[in-house]
Amino acid sequence: MSADPPPPAPGRSCEGCTLCCKIFGIPELEKPRHAWCAHCEIGRGCRIYETRPASCREFVCGWLIDGTVPEHWRPAKSRMVLTTEDGGRRLVINVDGGRLDAWKKPPYYAEIKRMAAAMARSRGQVIVWQGRNAIAVLPDRDKPLGPVAPGQIIVTTERAGPGGGDIDVEVMTAEELAAARR
Ligand code: SF4
Ligand code: SF4
Repeated sequence: MSADPPPPAPGRSCEGCTLCCKIFGIPELEKPRHAWCAHCEIGRGCRIYETRPASCREFVCGWLIDGTVPEHWRPAKSRMVLTTEDGGRRLVINVDGGRLDAWKKPPYYAEIKRMAAAMARSRGQVIVWQGRNAIAVLPDRDKPLGPVAPGQIIVTTERAGPGGGDIDVEVMTAEELAAARR
């Protein structure tokens, strides 16, 4: 049995937002990513709320549960849904496929770069999913990673830099990662 998802932060709710029902795939419904769910009343809610699948019951976005995320990151406004992976070591910014440039607009891009600098200090990652393509946002540059196939892993590495090792991000298979760590 899965744990209940964390509650919304004070003053926050999903009201008026259904963006996660477009961006994410729902395996139980065979719903692909970046397509509205057939059960979604866009901007209003779920028509099968009481019987929605576990993937939907367990999902909460970062804006909803973390009151320190500024209000303008509300997904219905920003067109981006924040999530974390790998125990919080990866911050993921899932951009609406219909607004692919949303993350580049002010004030978001500057804030994303600040997040990247903060995450890099602990070898964490900031990954933007611009529709179906991933981009690693690093303090000094943005690195396109492409579609990242199933089975591939996004790994934090270091590359030689003038001030010592600079954080880098690479896409590897499990075998390549194991070989790199030998
Ligand atoms: S994206 Fe976040 S705020 Fe919007 S409906 Fe989903 S969980 Fe709620
Ligand atoms: S079943 Fe409901 S909650 Fe789940 S994706 Fe579809 S509309 Fe959203």
